Amino acid sequence: MKKLWKIAALVLSLVLVVGCFAACGSSDDVDEPDAGAEATSEAGTTEAAESDRLADGVLTVGTNATFPPFEYLGDDGTPDGFDIALIKLIGEKIGVEVEVVDMEFDSLCASVGNRIDVAIAGMTVDPEREKTVDFSDNYYKAIQNVLVAADNTEITDMSSLAGKTIGVQLGTTGDKVATEAVENAEVKQYTSYSLAVEDLKNGNVDAVIIDQTPGEIFAGQNTEELKLLGAENFDFEDEYYAIACPEGDTALVARINAALSEIQSSGEFDMLVDEYIGNN
Ligand code: GLN
Repeated sequence: MKKLWKIAALVLSLVLVVGCFAACGSSDDVDEPDAGAEATSEAGTTEAAESDRLADGVLTVGTNATFPPFEYLGDDGTPDGFDIALIKLIGEKIGVEVEVVDMEFDSLCASVGNRIDVAIAGMTVDPEREKTVDFSDNYYKAIQNVLVAADNTEITDMSSLAGKTIGVQLGTTGDKVATEAVENAEVKQYTSYSLAVEDLKNGNVDAVIIDQTPGEIFAGQNTEELKLLGAENFDFEDEYYAIACPEGDTALVARINAALSEIQSSGEFDMLVDEYIGNN
């Protein structure tokens, strides 16, 4: 009887093993055509989207209106700023209406091509982002700076940032620098730079790593409490802002680039710089 059970168990485990192989084999077989189908439909969607995207005459643009002077909420509570004026002008040149959606910076790239057509948000061209979006031509050169309390004498360079509590906006290049390039920093990630700056004023963080131009605005709004340290003593690299477009939508990127270049050569770009950024 025992023997019989043993044989039964052996047969059963054999069936299971063979079954598993079969299943694994078949799932492999299924996976391949699946991946192929996905790729085809993805390409199909991209092509369809390319022609459809502006068919309704509207370019839906995502931004995060907490990054003056590039984007902020105007007196009427709607997004305004250099980037907003620039994308509206681009829309005008392309012949579409621009609809701006204010959302969290960290969700912009993932929303490009679905919830929004493109994103403009003082967004630095970055290899990580290039995995999911295609960027337009660059339109602005930037670099990180460091905001500290006006009476702070301790933080002067990269090594003196080591071990400090650093405030950043979540998912930004400032976040990346603080996390990857500063030794032993305690990085506090905020949904906006305004909140990071508030916490700096409250003494809850030692420094805020932020793009230079917005850094100048925040420092200028809080001259008693804050000062901005330039990039000279820190190992920051030049950054370039561009418009994030749906991956593979070369037609849209080309239209945006053509409009951008027209705006640059006509002098309209410099007028926007004068109006929104001034001497920065
Ligand atoms: N330029 C920075 C980045 O792309 C910050 C942008 C922002 O905070 N709006 O990450």
